[in-house]
Amino acid sequence: MHTNSSRRKFISTTVMAAGAMGMVPGALLANDSIQPTPFAQTPLPYAYNALEPYVDAMTMEIHHTKHAAAYTKNLNDAALAEFKGENLSLELVLSNISKYSAKLRNNGGGHYNHELFWKSMQATGTALHEGPLKQALMSNFNSFENFKTKMSEAAMTRFGSGWAWLYMDGEKKLQIGSTPNQDNPLMDVSPVKGQPLLGLDVWEHAYYLKYQNRRADYVNNWFNLVNWKFVEGRLIGK
Ligand code: MN
Repeated sequence: MHTNSSRRKFISTTVMAAGAMGMVPGALLANDSIQPTPFAQTPLPYAYNALEPYVDAMTMEIHHTKHAAAYTKNLNDAALAEFKGENLSLELVLSNISKYSAKLRNNGGGHYNHELFWKSMQATGTALHEGPLKQALMSNFNSFENFKTKMSEAAMTRFGSGWAWLYMDGEKKLQIGSTPNQDNPLMDVSPVKGQPLLGLDVWEHAYYLKYQNRRADYVNNWFNLVNWKFVEGRLIGK
């Protein structure tokens, strides 16, 4: 027969496991100190083949359903173990990521970065329009071409896996930089700090099927896919 304490432990473990699968009704959790932290992937806002010819359908499908899905799953596992039942925002956690495990750093960053990445792209054909983002890019980088050159350099000089970023620093100035692995400018451990506006995934899994070792071609083509409206929304806080 279960003692009270072992029975409570059993229920709590069961709730945690079910919570991770998104199966727990709120009422069941109301009196339990351990809350689920169900981070979820949002569905892609376009079809896998929508970004062709610049990014191919198979790359998009594997990237979204395997690589990014694994970051989200592992983030949920780490959050259950480390959030101590608190309902913490991912942004807040990333800003204090030095206090958490490498698993949370890698997968919390991985989830955040990819959710941003999918929304930052769209089917081809949209140029940077007149507006606050264009004005900010011009005043910080003098020309769109110069911005693109600097962002491309950040992507090309990132050794191994990582990300290139357009981000807004503490003085609201636009900056370009890069981070290794799944780090990002929100993290207290990052040498480049601020609000990420646009991130470019330069892990080989983002381009290898189509481009193999030609990261420069991938980077150059990727600029045809940027959803500038979305990036501008992040700049002006929408
Ligand atoms: Mn990726």
